[in-house]
Amino acid sequence: MPKEYCGIFGVFGHKSAGRLSRLGLFSLQHRGQESAGLVVDDRGEFHSRKGMGLVSEVFSAKDIEGIKGTSAIGHVRYSTSGESTPENIQPILVRHRDIPIAIAHNGTIHRSRELRKKFEDDGVIFTTETDSELILKMYTRQKGSRPERLRKVLNRIKGAFSLLVLFPGELYAVRDAMGFRPLVMGRKSRAVIFASESCAFDIEDARFERELKPGEIVKVSRKGVESFFLEKAEKCRCIFELIYFSRPDSFVFGQSVYESRLNMGRNLAMEAPVEADIVMPIPDSANIQALGYARQSGIPLEFGLLRNHYIGRTFIAPHQEIRDLGVRIKHTPIRTAVRGKRVVMVDDSIVRGTTSKKLVDMIKKAGAKEIHMRISSPPIKFSCYYGIDTPDKKKLIASKKSAEDIRKFLKVKSLYYLSRQGLEKACRGDGYCFSCFSGKYPL
Ligand code: SF4
Repeated sequence: MPKEYCGIFGVFGHKSAGRLSRLGLFSLQHRGQESAGLVVDDRGEFHSRKGMGLVSEVFSAKDIEGIKGTSAIGHVRYSTSGESTPENIQPILVRHRDIPIAIAHNGTIHRSRELRKKFEDDGVIFTTETDSELILKMYTRQKGSRPERLRKVLNRIKGAFSLLVLFPGELYAVRDAMGFRPLVMGRKSRAVIFASESCAFDIEDARFERELKPGEIVKVSRKGVESFFLEKAEKCRCIFELIYFSRPDSFVFGQSVYESRLNMGRNLAMEAPVEADIVMPIPDSANIQALGYARQSGIPLEFGLLRNHYIGRTFIAPHQEIRDLGVRIKHTPIRTAVRGKRVVMVDDSIVRGTTSKKLVDMIKKAGAKEIHMRISSPPIKFSCYYGIDTPDKKKLIASKKSAEDIRKFLKVKSLYYLSRQGLEKACRGDGYCFSCFSGKYPL
């Protein structure tokens, strides 16, 4: 499956802004586990906390409780551009004309290397490799009010991103003009909250208000909430948010992620029925799709694989012996569930095919009689250039093999991918990005 990218969280007008941000980032941890950071505005004085690792490792409750301030922005990172190093941890905090500015973004900017080079040719020095710093450098060169300057910069750059910018007494939240990345707004009493996904509101007991529109800039200050808009562009929302990235308890692009995945499974069962004894998901990302398949087909759902959730990077990275365990470190078979059974294995996608093959082998060794693979998305044939870490096209198994060849490679009895129509129907509506399936890139 493609790798996750970043998550952002912001709050304006709450006396425990730091604590709320820590909780919000904790809920968004699935979107990035490499590093975490937050910046709190305490009446114009900005305090920053950052570190490599998980939210629970980077911020201690005691430390965060000690930070005063009523507004904050935070970030969890999975690097899609730039190295995974402490300098690149967001939010980026700078001072311009003696005013602190903090910025955090999720996604990627189109042609950022070229833009960066132009700046460097002009003698500008960058201290990080992030697109956030590039946006800041562009911002400081503009004239006008803050929203006008932001609008000028963001109309100039194209890309797939959501953005939070914190100034003393003002917070801006932005969704890119095509709406690739999600960004939602909520309220906790009088405080205004922003997050990549609505699941961050539940932990805070905050109320979901709405999703930002594509190209919308929301400004929050003591005067209230105002909206500005970037130049209009055609909507292009990343369908993988619904297939894989977002948590099933979130609402994304106006859809319940849970319901969309249930529909994907149902449609898959209608498009590719098969006689079998059990339906089993590849946990956890295909759990709901497998449930949909089971309900529609009437075949019982069983859990044939168990996923270990407690593998930290530090446990795997330094030990060759542990790395050699491969998928076994993450997944183990439940033999009693699969032994002697005809199994329908449901997964969200196939990227390189190597993990799928190992999992099929594992279930076979556990005693399954035959395996039918069902995938709740079309074949990924092309790389993503919009901030998702898919490998080079050459490494995508579906870019060079037909479904029948992939079936042979995986050594399964049958293999079926959900059709694009089936996926669209499951996610209700149009205006989605399908570039990694079609190779047609809007940017
Ligand atoms: S190419 Fe695929 S992963 Fe990338 S934004 Fe589009 S749908 Fe999402």
